[in-house]
Amino acid sequence: MRSKPNILVTGTPGTGKTTTSSALAEATHLRHINIGDLVKDKKLHDGWDDDFQCHVINEDLVCDELEDIMEEGGVIVDYHGCDFFPERWFDRVVVLQTETSVLYDRLSKRGYAGAKLTNNIECEIFQELLEEAKESYKEEIVEAMKSDTVEDMNRNVAAITEWVSSWSSTA
Ligand code: ADP
Ligand code: MN
Repeated sequence: MRSKPNILVTGTPGTGKTTTSSALAEATHLRHINIGDLVKDKKLHDGWDDDFQCHVINEDLVCDELEDIMEEGGVIVDYHGCDFFPERWFDRVVVLQTETSVLYDRLSKRGYAGAKLTNNIECEIFQELLEEAKESYKEEIVEAMKSDTVEDMNRNVAAITEWVSSWSSTA
């Protein structure tokens, strides 16, 4: 049994996964792993997708890379997908959600336009990540959290930090 919990922070691109995970890692001293960066750094992909303008992630390579680290515990995983990770890895799954207009502005600022922008906005409107999380993990460990403002983020980080400090593997 791991002595520290593993947390998955998921949600549509732009909802604040990386910002929230960094703040959470600082507050809890858990280790933040940004799957997008890991895939790039360790080349855990099958090339570049021109249509979607992103690497084609190799899910098996990612899971192999992380298995030992996740077994140890104390990891915050940050990724806009969650159905390919082993269910047993996570003690809590946080799905960040952002108001459409706010998300639109954030993604436009990031340079997203056209189909890439529309696809991500639709992904958020239809709550696709929340659905995916509920299908992949026990409902009682999945929680949606509003991430529209900095106050929202601070509240989320404080709540999860509180939960981490009271977590015990025997609970
Ligand atoms: P993700 O990792 O989910 O793609 P980021 O953490 O990169 O999202 O955040 C995208 C942008 O939105 C960043 O500029 C970040 O500062 C901002 N942001 C993220 N979460 C919030 C929030 N709760 N309130 C205000 N701005 C936020
Ligand atoms: Mn990110």
